[in-house]
Amino acid sequence: MNAQAWLNLISDFLFPGNCPICEGPPYRRMDSYMCLECMDELPWITGGGCKLCGIPMSGMEFGGLTCQSCREEVRSFRAGRSLFLLDRNGRKLVHEIKYHGVRCVLKDLPHWLERCGGIPEYLEDALLIPVPLHGKRLKSRGFNQSLWIARALNDEIAGTEVLEILMRERNTPSQTKLDRKSRKANVKNAFALKPRTCLDTKKPMVLVDDVFTTGATLDSCAQVLSGMGCEDVRVLVLGHG
Ligand SMILES: [Zn+2]
Ligand SMILES: [Zn+2]
Repeated sequence: MNAQAWLNLISDFLFPGNCPICEGPPYRRMDSYMCLECMDELPWITGGGCKLCGIPMSGMEFGGLTCQSCREEVRSFRAGRSLFLLDRNGRKLVHEIKYHGVRCVLKDLPHWLERCGGIPEYLEDALLIPVPLHGKRLKSRGFNQSLWIARALNDEIAGTEVLEILMRERNTPSQTKLDRKSRKANVKNAFALKPRTCLDTKKPMVLVDDVFTTGATLDSCAQVLSGMGCEDVRVLVLGHG
């Protein structure tokens, strides 16, 4: 961890923070960081959406089908769930974790899981595989937020296991300013299995990341796993959008 990450960890401990979204007082009665108002307002995804990315669907579309953007892409994973939509508040929450290293927010995960529904069943007996950062990025950020999320899920859901088996071979530029096509090219063949990794290819493998935007990064990771013969590759992210 770098100095900033250590500082954040220490200040989390000394000053158990305010709500990560509105910065108001935390919701102590439920022992959560997020205040009740922000928790209620966050657009939680309660299931029944696109089977590949989890986004809620309306009209003629219903559970078991895929959204338009997933239909237009080749997906190397067979299922996906997202916990909430990335509206302004959703973005702020992810931003606090990813760029400010506010790990304590993930202690609220049990409350999030209650609001989403079906996640423990979705992750049952799964190997949780965090999307890796390149060594250089890891050094500058000090932590991998996807590993934090995977560990928080593992703490809550019995039978899961966190496996850091993927590595990022190329230090690709950030995806945030790229369009759909460039994102795909940017992460193509960027990931590989760590050397000497043994895999039980029959187990469900769930790739864990902070956000699902076009799905290009997750797909690139999934290609590595399905290329190794893994039969059941899925994804789970915090925010979709
Ligand atoms: Zn709040
Ligand atoms: Zn979708």
